[in-house]
Amino acid sequence: MAKKQFQAESKRLLEMMINSIYTQREIFLRELISNASDAIDKMYYKALMDDQLVFNKDDYYIKVTADKENRTLTISDTGIGMTKEELENNLGIIAKSGSLAFKKENELKDGHNIIGQFGVGFYSAFMVADIVTVISKAHGSEEAYKWESEGADGYTIESCGKDSAGTEIILKIKPNTEDDQYDEYLEEYRLKAIIKKYSDFIRYPIKMDVKGQ
Ligand code: ADP
Ligand code: MG
Repeated sequence: MAKKQFQAESKRLLEMMINSIYTQREIFLRELISNASDAIDKMYYKALMDDQLVFNKDDYYIKVTADKENRTLTISDTGIGMTKEELENNLGIIAKSGSLAFKKENELKDGHNIIGQFGVGFYSAFMVADIVTVISKAHGSEEAYKWESEGADGYTIESCGKDSAGTEIILKIKPNTEDDQYDEYLEEYRLKAIIKKYSDFIRYPIKMDVKGQ
């Protein structure tokens, strides 16, 4: 399948993310959980505006699943989901907050400073993952799509199956190297600590499931 290219700005931000320093990596989870929460908010507002729609609180949650054997960490939500166009437009180019971060980066000598400070968004996934897969089904749509990227060299998009509306972000966690540890992002205690630190205020339940040892 032909790879589509990211915009130049997105490429720079991606490089920054991929090469970010150790201590700031953990914020990827804050960013992905905040996106999941935003997606559920959007469903909530949609239901408020539409008498035909009922927002059943129990149906809306975020789930963090670690699979140690396959080295995947999945953040899924039952939110509004994305159409094919939205996957392309929202993930293929830098979102507004990302652009802001990028501009600030140009003013700083040390681009690293910025990562912890700002909402850097979706691309922060590449700090801990070498492949990011997004499976999404938009609310009200019959079709689901899979977006996949290994970083700066672009992304692919294809149709796929998914039962219900929402989004799954699957991170293929990088292998450990001599200098860099990534295994911790598959450990329950570590994930719980990160969630407590950054996502305590999230209004929807965050469920967790850790498989393998
Ligand atoms: P921001 O959240 O500041 O807009 P991000 O880079 O975090 O920037 O996300 C970019 C966009 O991708 C979001 O604005 C949203 O439209 C879309 N998006 C990301 N994650 C999800 C998700 N889980 N469900 C639905 N849309 C999402
Ligand atoms: Mg975001």
